Amino acid sequence: MTFEDLKLAEPLLRAVKAEGYTSPTPIQAQAIPHVLAGKDVLGCAQTGTGKTAAFTLPILQRLSVGRPTPPARGRPIRSLILSPTRELAAQIGDSIRAYGRFTGLTSAVIFGGVGQNAQEQALKHGVDILVATPGRLLDLMDQGFVSYKALEVFVLDEADRMLDMGFIHDVKRVIAKLPTQRQTLFFSATMPPEIQGLANSILKNPVRVEV
Ligand code: AMP
Repeated sequence: MTFEDLKLAEPLLRAVKAEGYTSPTPIQAQAIPHVLAGKDVLGCAQTGTGKTAAFTLPILQRLSVGRPTPPARGRPIRSLILSPTRELAAQIGDSIRAYGRFTGLTSAVIFGGVGQNAQEQALKHGVDILVATPGRLLDLMDQGFVSYKALEVFVLDEADRMLDMGFIHDVKRVIAKLPTQRQTLFFSATMPPEIQGLANSILKNPVRVEV
């Protein structure tokens, strides 16, 4: 199995080569075709399996292929990725920048514990892909800085850690504001009943992938 076999577009194949990846990991081989086909996905995978690329590569492809690049300013958010910690959010942001370097798509990462100004500016300027931790995102949403009118793909990463860290209520508040017509990707290392229940309530006919 190669990245070419996964039907990734040329700008993504170039970026993957530049990262030095020679072949997809099992979660990438399983998940990427379904994400590209527009399906909802329930992924059971730990960090370290390559799951970040399993969702970011096909999202970058969905958002970049077959569309003229709009002006950089004032772009609405088309994909939201929720992550439980600032470190994970920053890592996902780094991956999106690396894998998306030849696509022209823009992204921003927002999390708590730092000043809000730069994050407000990024949202005002407009980004295609927003990576966020739930608490700071809700603060910015409550202040009117975030619009989801153009949202196409939502990712909930490390759902079980969201639960462990007490963020599930915040996560549900964010999800309640998203358009119901969207693609949802849900990742969790474990599936306790509360997480399975959340998955059941937000995924439509999901494909389950497990590594
Ligand atoms: P993740 O599970 O997403 O945190 O990824 C774990 C690590 O695997 C990261 O350092 C990635 O850069 C790396 N990685 C992801 N996909 C591949 C691949 N197909 N080949 C080699 N390394 C990869």
